[in-house]
Amino acid sequence: MDSQKIGFCCPVCGGALQPEGLGAVCALGHGFDRARQGYFHLLPSHKMHSKLPGDTKEMVESRRRFLEGGYYECFREALCGLAADCLKEGKISPENAVLLDAGCGEGYYTGALRNAFPRAELYAFDISKAAVKAASGKYKGISFAVASSFSIPVPDSFCDLLIDVFSPLAQEEFARVTKPGGFFLYAVPGERHLMGLKEILYEKPYENERQDTEYPGFSFVSRREVKKELWIPDAQTALDLFSMTPYYWKTDVAGGRRLRETKGFSTEISFDFLVNRKEKN
Ligand SMILES: [Zn+2]
Repeated sequence: MDSQKIGFCCPVCGGALQPEGLGAVCALGHGFDRARQGYFHLLPSHKMHSKLPGDTKEMVESRRRFLEGGYYECFREALCGLAADCLKEGKISPENAVLLDAGCGEGYYTGALRNAFPRAELYAFDISKAAVKAASGKYKGISFAVASSFSIPVPDSFCDLLIDVFSPLAQEEFARVTKPGGFFLYAVPGERHLMGLKEILYEKPYENERQDTEYPGFSFVSRREVKKELWIPDAQTALDLFSMTPYYWKTDVAGGRRLRETKGFSTEISFDFLVNRKEKN
């Protein structure tokens, strides 16, 4: 990838960024740092609600341990397959495609997209600096930034394919940054995703709500459910998985203890992949 080409734009004014020194600057003089690993920090400080938003370093390490155990390999394969289907459907050459991974975390899915589409331009961001640092340290040939889905530092109609795996839905921004005729591939938890984990954590585990599929500016194309039964072999793996979930922040002491004492359990895992297409105006 051309190291002089930044691609991202100024998150404050939307102007193009030019390299300057070790960072980048827009025409109005808004300046941003570039980390040693190569990613840009494009989260304006006045929009940071806490000093370190998003997943912490420890959560990122847990997530990476879990994902590298291969437990979610089926989802990674499904994502790449569906991304290829979208490009084909849109008659978009993978050689020239621009892909944007919103809320990329530690890069598990982004890295797979890099391998699946070696010639495409691939951009990814996350609000967690720890996550982006881990992602850019491991996966090469990807433009990474610390940034928010609610203020995406790219121009209008930027990408052919926008990918969001379990990250916040920023409908207006997603519609703004996707090219007319481009695709938005959105992975959400299936109704019984992690039911076995929830049975340990809660007295009365509920199924997830089925996600609706109408997003302004997009037409719904299809839903694909990918599911399997997974064996979680030990407490460490269980805790690593737990730290990736929303339950991490809403479990009582007894639930946490039951999980720490597990000798292994089985759980259903399921992702719903929602394929949406940006309307052609
Ligand atoms: Zn600016």
